[in-house]
Amino acid sequence: MASLQLSPAPSPRGRRQKLPTTKLERYVLDDTDMSQHYSINDLKLLTSHKKTAVYKGSLKLPDQEDAVSVVVKTDFFAESPRPSVFEHEADMYEVYLWGLQDKSIPHCYGLFQYDGEDGRVSSFLVLGDCGTPIEDPRNFTDSYKSKVIDAVYFIHFAGFTHGDLSYHNILNKDGCPFIIDFETAKPHVCEMKEKVFIGEERKELGCTEMMRCAALVRAWADLDVKLEGVYTFLRMDLRRGNMDYLLSRLTHCNSDPTVYRPYVEQLVEQVEARREHYRNIPREERLIVPE
Ligand SMILES: [Zn+2]
Repeated sequence: MASLQLSPAPSPRGRRQKLPTTKLERYVLDDTDMSQHYSINDLKLLTSHKKTAVYKGSLKLPDQEDAVSVVVKTDFFAESPRPSVFEHEADMYEVYLWGLQDKSIPHCYGLFQYDGEDGRVSSFLVLGDCGTPIEDPRNFTDSYKSKVIDAVYFIHFAGFTHGDLSYHNILNKDGCPFIIDFETAKPHVCEMKEKVFIGEERKELGCTEMMRCAALVRAWADLDVKLEGVYTFLRMDLRRGNMDYLLSRLTHCNSDPTVYRPYVEQLVEQVEARREHYRNIPREERLIVPE
């Protein structure tokens, strides 16, 4: 049975409740003999909420000289520990999404459990440190947006939805996104058939969570297009055959809105050119081909 030992560390509860420093047993996923002992030092409290606290520390592995930077997620301080939720999350990392570790989800060093005196089982999930949550998607490059979409799609392709996709659950490490927090992951058959091209007009993807992901990273072209200093049109209205309608929107600016015709036409041409660019992407490049 593998075990983990934590060094003394700051507690969100102060002196009232301290992290256990006795050996914690590993939640065993299969019959493999794992008679190894891990220890984590230099624990620093990163965040503490009602349900979980998150620490950062240095993991010493029995077969490796250098320590590894890790994050420890625990419900030790929660009013009601949730062992089955942590076991589900560990199963996601170590069984169902195992092939995505170090690719689009963090490396998982295991779930370790602490049997408290009152029968409470607290959990300590140890994951590779994959950086900090992404923040403002307006600063992302198109290629980074695509990487986030791919990372989430890999999970769908593996047969699961994340279930709680948000900026907090997407980490960035050296320009690579990593998805975390699989407490609410569920089996899923993804209906997404076409790739998302950054900057194209919003299209239906056939999968609610992938639509959410595309919106989170601002993958689509803006819905509004400004005729500078005059009016803001809806992008979907800017079409070659729609000139009369577009000019009719400008009657409040000038009693003769046709004075704007050349500018509106120019705007329509720009939008139509972009539309054509995305439309011309060959079908074989658009379709998702399962690997
Ligand atoms: Zn899906």
